[in-house]
Amino acid sequence: MVLDASVTVPALPQQSSSSYQAASLINPSTQRPGVCGLNNSGNSCYLNAVLQCLCSTVPLVEHLLNQETRKELASCRVAEIFVGLLEDMWLGRSSSCAPVEAKSVLCSILPQFNNYLQQDAQELLLSLLNTLHDNLKKVHCDNRKSKSLSVDSTIVSHLFEGQLSYRTLCMHCNYQTHSTQTFTVLSIPIPPAIIKCSLEDCLSLFFERTVLTGGEQMLCSVCGLRRETGVLTCLEKPPEILMLHLKRFGRKGKNQVKLRTNVAFSMKLDLTPFVSSSVQSTSYSSYRLYAVVVSHLNMGHYTALCHNALSQTWHSFDDLVVREVQDSLVQSPNAYLLLYSRKRFQKPKIHGLGAL
Ligand SMILES: [Zn+2]
Repeated sequence: MVLDASVTVPALPQQSSSSYQAASLINPSTQRPGVCGLNNSGNSCYLNAVLQCLCSTVPLVEHLLNQETRKELASCRVAEIFVGLLEDMWLGRSSSCAPVEAKSVLCSILPQFNNYLQQDAQELLLSLLNTLHDNLKKVHCDNRKSKSLSVDSTIVSHLFEGQLSYRTLCMHCNYQTHSTQTFTVLSIPIPPAIIKCSLEDCLSLFFERTVLTGGEQMLCSVCGLRRETGVLTCLEKPPEILMLHLKRFGRKGKNQVKLRTNVAFSMKLDLTPFVSSSVQSTSYSSYRLYAVVVSHLNMGHYTALCHNALSQTWHSFDDLVVREVQDSLVQSPNAYLLLYSRKRFQKPKIHGLGAL
């Protein structure tokens, strides 16, 4: 209904890249764990930006780099390569990596990424997490020994899955229905025809009570007819990690257009106003920003801004170019994906990282 996971992105002409001022370039000889530039193997900046965000997702990295998990994943090609890359990024001696294998294995199972065209970072993020989830599920089925998680649940669903609830009301007979839907990425609209708004404005629009009219009317099972329908969307289960996708790409007549609205976001996000009253609790729905994918206007180029839980500093990642950035510069008018965590990430517990 409101969950639109597929957004087509036009191929945009290249322009010179913008740089972050007042940011310091990281000296390549001083490798910081989890701060690693990624080589661009031909329009793969969308992959690099997504990989940087996942590399900063501490509970995911901790789980996947756990020695037991690594052994189990040896039979899963995608997961194994992804985990190998994470290991290089966190424990490797080099300040950069070339995710060639990651790209080729991804292309082999997801043919839509098998070209040198610019792709949508949001679609890739979803596909990568789905593949990882399927790989891990297969391992759970094979082993049947994981105690804390059921067979269908993996670290991916545990961290990233949330649930929405929809309450519909037939405007004719007042018949109400209730349904739920799980989500991994929440695609939220940007209010039209404005230059600047806040992330909360976008969320308010997403969770706004709407009335479906005309062709959108729903079939009321009591009336037996399509009727005007009121729909109220709430957050039934806030996820551990909230991934927000700003719907910047829309249509104007026949043309695909990109909304250039500057969406202001802050380090903290409180979802309490949108959480279903049955589960409301402030501590349960307050989030902290830890990663941003930036889609540069008219460039078809993606970069990432990620918080490193070990150094407790932010970095900007533009393929191989890595800069440390001040917290105040994390704001970007071109934010495309925002990753928030409910828990503040602690220093990662990764085998081999202890001595650093
Ligand atoms: Zn009705």
